[in-house]
Amino acid sequence: MNLFYAPPEQVQGRTLTLAGDEARHASKVLRYQVGDAIFITDGVGNQYEGRVEVAGKNDLQVSILHKHFTPKPGELILVLGVLKNRQRLEFAIEKAVEIGSTKIILFKSDHSERSKVNVDRLQTIAGSAMKQSLRSYLPAIQYHHSLEDAIGDYKNMSLITAHEKQKNETLEIFKLDTDYLALVGPEGGFSEDEMQLMKDNKARIISLGDHRLRAETAVVALLSRFY
Ligand code: SAH
Repeated sequence: MNLFYAPPEQVQGRTLTLAGDEARHASKVLRYQVGDAIFITDGVGNQYEGRVEVAGKNDLQVSILHKHFTPKPGELILVLGVLKNRQRLEFAIEKAVEIGSTKIILFKSDHSERSKVNVDRLQTIAGSAMKQSLRSYLPAIQYHHSLEDAIGDYKNMSLITAHEKQKNETLEIFKLDTDYLALVGPEGGFSEDEMQLMKDNKARIISLGDHRLRAETAVVALLSRFY
């Protein structure tokens, strides 16, 4: 099954419009035609089953036959130090969305070796991962210049920090009946100051095992503990 994306403003009553790359992908690559069944999410909880009414090159008109709403899940916000390696960063974002992260906040860590990120490109990757994993919510990608700024708005949530120097792995599962920030450092790890800041904000510091994982592996291992 292919799932397409149309933001809420493209949904009007019983019809919706697929535009831009989404429309071109549907009509040119996948060759959707008038009468075909099509599945679309608006990224804010709704999945629509529809019928293609007009299959233009640059937009598709779809009549809506069924709508299914998924209630918003508990927040699972990934806070990740910007990685130097772009492919690894993109991999981390793709996997985070697939596993169920609801928002991704990147920050320039004291040990990040890169400070420029192309948020638009990463947002596109998040959108593809949402469709691939048949999710109905589009996680927003944000960038901040420090960990302090990154967690500033979320200090009332539960912070769970993965830290390679923490001993004794626990196999605890965190239930998403409350909102969480899941924190992973960049290639060089968190700085002392960043560790202190998280401790000041009552973060739980957890081990993901005795071995030093790459940051993107730590993202997958950490997020897998929430359900
Ligand atoms: N500071 C280290 C490695 C950092 S690994 C160094 O430079 O040698 C990057 C990030 O992955 C860490 O900041 C941490 O969040 C996470 N991580 C890696 N291995 C981990 C482990 N065994 N347990 C918990 N977190 C881990």
